[in-house]
Amino acid sequence: MGDSRTAGNVLAEVALPLPLFTTFSYRVADGLANAVVPGTRVVVPFRNRKEIGICVGFTEPTDTTRDYKPILEVPDAEPAIDASMLELCRWMASYYVAPLGVVLRCALPAALTGAAVPTPSQKTRRVAVIANELSSLMHRDRIFARTKQQRALFELLESLGGRSAVEHLLEQLSFSPSVLKGLVARNLVRVEDEVVARDPFASRPPIAGRRHHPTSDQQGVIDALTTGSPGEVFLLHGITGSGKTLVYIELLERVVRERGQTAIVLVPEIALTPQTVDRFRQVFGDAIAVLHSALSDGERYDAWLALRRGEKRIAVGARSAIFAPLSNLGAIIVDEEHESSYKQAEAPRYHAREVAIVRARNEGAVVVLGSATPSLESWTNAAAGKYRRLSLPERVGGGQLPGVEIVNMRRAPRRESQAPPDPFTLVVSDPLATALADRLTRSEQSILLLNRRGYASFVQCNQCGDVTTCPNCTISLTYHRTPERLVCHYCLYKEEPSTRCRRCAGDTLRRRGLGTQQVERLLTERYPSARVARMDVDTTTAKWAHADILDRVGRGEVDILLGTQMIAKGLDFPNVTLVGVIDADVGINLPDFRSSERCFQLLSQVAGRAGRGPKGGRVLIQTRVPNHHAVQCAVAHDYTRFVTEEMEGRREPVYPPVTRLANVVFSGLRENETQGLAARASERLRRAVASYGDQISVIGPAPCPIERVKARWRWHLLLKSTNPALLTRACRFLVERLDVPKDKSQLRIALDRDPVSLL
Ligand code: ADP
Ligand code: ZN
Repeated sequence: MGDSRTAGNVLAEVALPLPLFTTFSYRVADGLANAVVPGTRVVVPFRNRKEIGICVGFTEPTDTTRDYKPILEVPDAEPAIDASMLELCRWMASYYVAPLGVVLRCALPAALTGAAVPTPSQKTRRVAVIANELSSLMHRDRIFARTKQQRALFELLESLGGRSAVEHLLEQLSFSPSVLKGLVARNLVRVEDEVVARDPFASRPPIAGRRHHPTSDQQGVIDALTTGSPGEVFLLHGITGSGKTLVYIELLERVVRERGQTAIVLVPEIALTPQTVDRFRQVFGDAIAVLHSALSDGERYDAWLALRRGEKRIAVGARSAIFAPLSNLGAIIVDEEHESSYKQAEAPRYHAREVAIVRARNEGAVVVLGSATPSLESWTNAAAGKYRRLSLPERVGGGQLPGVEIVNMRRAPRRESQAPPDPFTLVVSDPLATALADRLTRSEQSILLLNRRGYASFVQCNQCGDVTTCPNCTISLTYHRTPERLVCHYCLYKEEPSTRCRRCAGDTLRRRGLGTQQVERLLTERYPSARVARMDVDTTTAKWAHADILDRVGRGEVDILLGTQMIAKGLDFPNVTLVGVIDADVGINLPDFRSSERCFQLLSQVAGRAGRGPKGGRVLIQTRVPNHHAVQCAVAHDYTRFVTEEMEGRREPVYPPVTRLANVVFSGLRENETQGLAARASERLRRAVASYGDQISVIGPAPCPIERVKARWRWHLLLKSTNPALLTRACRFLVERLDVPKDKSQLRIALDRDPVSLL
């Protein structure tokens, strides 16, 4: 073992991107000996084909008689993965119980997962770069005493992140070439060639905006962050509109410009937050690489190279931006840290927030987890002193949080003689309809949220609002059609659906889904003059569709913005004075221990879009469960009360953050074999962990809430323990010691450590 090689008989350990939990040994031919170091991509023969893997170390041959196959090629001049990234990937492989090769593939841009060396775009341009930083003001006054123009250009260059295209300085900003020459002659600036990346953002110039002075609250937070110790984690609890973005920008300024370090900014989904991204670009311009999900593989590779070469010093992106190849990392910001999109749904099932914390600890950076509604996990960690809590309890400029009102959508039972209700009033209550009409006459804007997640899977009484729940768990029962049953997916309790509500004895009705398209039609019929924009997966398939819709809202060309949860985040439009939630209950009744938390977060986030300007704002939440604590706490803007009440529900039965979870999903094409594998696994695992007593519990097997996906049957086991090492061992046992028959059933085991949802 070890990373350095002595002469002769050493083998390279290669991790391959395959679902195999071992590395493979290959001979290194003399000609390649210098080229292969840990982190190097290598092409190797594997089962009669060529695979591309990563050298992760060296080893002595265990079997001296064996003829090891040789590494065939080394495609790159430099290792693709540096030592600290390799360390991070090893941690991920171990914690998330994923093959190292699969983790490494996930940490690299797609262009580097093929054997060919991708070619960056070859266009180059001249850029001016600050060669010597000038710190004190006095120093500057002296140096630039007789060269005011040079000072102006130098300081402009500083404000552009220390580098800018020469053409931009001379043509757009009208500096004369002699001023630049003067700075170069004095060794303050140098001019160099830079490869021009394919930058799709070039076509979307940031709108110039005013940069505010931090308020004293903001300044307090900024001071704490900039004096954080290496590896320190901060939880920034700032209500919606409290100015978290400015805090991030000031921190980046200190880290990137003053200390010359680099930084990563994670956002839940870049397409949904063009406003936030624009604000970073306004300030840091060329120093930022925006890792947009719509980038092509080539564009992504260009951005990766620019970050790695130090041409860009800030990476802004979703989950995978945590692998940005930056050295000298000073800060990682995780905006909206509670968002479940930070968890990857396929292997390796990592959580970018947790990876951020480990990376920052390894590399000495500070971490800022920002949210108006922190996850219970982060809140608990802060309460335990693992993270330092900072708060921004007020909106900037003395703005008020909007008043939130509940509209109870429970209806009296309809009598036979009555006419069927108007479909519009079933969806939009009178108070909401009146409020919308008011906004239209006053030329103000409205946002309507229709949360579509998980409709139609639970049973609710239309008269009393009662949702059929499990007698053993605080979880609603899921409706299954064949055979017709209500099932608890946590403890396997089952019952036949009854036709009468057990609470009020009225007719129990099964819920049906309601689509955004349908609501859009109802709105345009009712308000023919209103300009309605719909934002959902169907209207946002084009590359810049989100940004275009939001730009139209910003320009006042939209009266009502209707959308799914993608409209809940980050939007900052002062003319939006009304937010309506069409159906708050949809998320509450999902059979998932986090459904209340997600509902509270969503309601709080979307309510926070209202009243961001001087005209104030109003929020109307339509619900059939007005007394549910998620709804009540969102109405009262009371995060801490929500946490207190919600934590009670996580104790019995126990769920995170009171314990830790691993969800083990068995899937296969045939039901019997899938169930059989799950049963065998649970039996063997129970025996293996028997000596640990109640330190770990194994629950199930049970069918997954969605029991068949893409023609595969799914069963799961839930492992609970407060001891993370024990959970790791239990997961390893399942992937290493369990025989999974290779037959037509195509059985598979998937491990989800710290699942964000059990659906
Ligand atoms: P959050 O992300 O916390 O919801 P934002 O960062 O979007 O809040 O800030 C809300 C609004 O307040 C934005 O329009 C922003 O430009 C403005 N703002 C932020 N900080 C200040 C400040 N110090 N002075 C004036 N306006 C500010
Ligand atoms: Zn149950």
